[in-house]
Amino acid sequence: MSLEQIWAPWRLAYIKGDPQQTSPAAGPAASSAPPESAPEAASPGNGENCGCFLCRYVAAATTEDRANLVVLRGKKAVVVLNRYPYNNGHLLVAPHAHKATLEELDDEELLECGQLLRQLCGVLRRVMSPDGFNAGLNLGRVAGAGLPGHLHWHLVPRWNGDTNFMPVLGEVNVIPQSLDALYEMLITELSSSAN
Ligand SMILES: [Zn+2]
Repeated sequence: MSLEQIWAPWRLAYIKGDPQQTSPAAGPAASSAPPESAPEAASPGNGENCGCFLCRYVAAATTEDRANLVVLRGKKAVVVLNRYPYNNGHLLVAPHAHKATLEELDDEELLECGQLLRQLCGVLRRVMSPDGFNAGLNLGRVAGAGLPGHLHWHLVPRWNGDTNFMPVLGEVNVIPQSLDALYEMLITELSSSAN
């Protein structure tokens, strides 16, 4: 498997064996969205007490979920496709509440985030056939958190052979079409597996 294929939108179609996935899908995520590379510099949005993008997405109307790449809303936690992923299918799982540390999470928030990580591992496995995952937290800026005020788990699918490609990905903007297609595949799988 060549490394470049991981990033190509048609790679998803290749994995799924579905020729329809190769057709361009112009969705809202292809339009200009607020950059998240510097989320803390963003002006306060709909978030209650802050300007962070996770709070903004949680507070936004559900009709905005597709544009915001919100994949799933739980009772106290949310799942978002990372617009600037380390790898294709990179998801963020975060409590609704703007909390920076694990100690601040109540039992329900902690449990739901764990359950969502478990659920999304299964969804990603079925949709993208990864060989493994990285799952974890970066707590505090010194630990690499880009949004230190609002903790979030990273769930990153991994494929054999992608290792050497990973450091490059931080500088690469994902192809919007591929994000749209992936979003569609994830919510389709979520809705079918919920039944
Ligand atoms: Zn927040």
